[in-house]
Amino acid sequence: MRNISSIATMQNLALQWKREGRRIGFVPTMGYLHEGHISLVHRARKLVGKRGRVAVSIYVNPTQFGPKEDLSKYPRDLRRDLQLCRAAGVDTVFAPTDAGMYPHTETAAYSTWVIEEQLSREMEGRSRPTHFRGVTTVVAKLFNIVLPDVAVFGAKDWQQAAIIQRMVHDLNFPLTIDVAPTHRESDGLAMSSRNKNLVGNLRPQAIALWDAIQTAQQRVSTAKQPLSAATLRKQLQRLIEQRPDARVDYIEFFEPSTLRAVTKVSRGAHLALAVFVGTTRLIDNARL
Ligand code: AMP
Repeated sequence: MRNISSIATMQNLALQWKREGRRIGFVPTMGYLHEGHISLVHRARKLVGKRGRVAVSIYVNPTQFGPKEDLSKYPRDLRRDLQLCRAAGVDTVFAPTDAGMYPHTETAAYSTWVIEEQLSREMEGRSRPTHFRGVTTVVAKLFNIVLPDVAVFGAKDWQQAAIIQRMVHDLNFPLTIDVAPTHRESDGLAMSSRNKNLVGNLRPQAIALWDAIQTAQQRVSTAKQPLSAATLRKQLQRLIEQRPDARVDYIEFFEPSTLRAVTKVSRGAHLALAVFVGTTRLIDNARL
């Protein structure tokens, strides 16, 4: 397995793979890898086959963090990540530097952004106004560097996957997006690099998100008619905030492909939520 930090080296390798007629599967990550990430790697391998090449990027992208967010607190362990990638059969890890991705010289600073203007507005976009601009920009850059035929994203970040799909469609990137299911701990907590920050009695409280999802799924499956989104939201908020350190950021019900909010919730609607557990912000989502 190769570990590349130079953008030019990665791009030349990708071009060489293309000349050799190999399909390229790509998994972009911010590192501190867990089984959820590795499941995306296996999926990428399946999609490109034995002759294909699988690349994983590991980059904590500063432009998707707000000024008051947890960029410096974001967990990192490149050595361990490299071991996990090697064991999972990754061909190349691409771990660029901030100076490489966002060059800043005396005469010029980085100044080109990719902005999706519809799906980015609600949910994560409302709570984190510059987040998706950072995500779409870095993913567009990574696509131009790794030149994938297929890129795999997790359903865990449902809105992100929808926005990337829109970007690929709108900007005619010659690749397909594959969305892989959410990997969970045995108690239902969605795996996330941020779970590392759930120390002491915060970890058991983090089950609040899965609890709310299951409650909503059960309500919807037994309801005789569509439920009021406002009422269900209040009920779930109360359920979550029974835990002393859990505070709801948002709970939204929407149509899964357009992300359009619904006022009546019935089977097939999608639920997404963001909850602070202590100071750690967790997100999750599911089809109802
Ligand atoms: P991150 O490193 O958190 O930016 O995530 C990198 C990719 O892994 C994104 O496409 C995420 O949606 C995906 N991912 C993160 N957590 C999970 C999970 N628990 N199950 C499946 N995919 C995940």
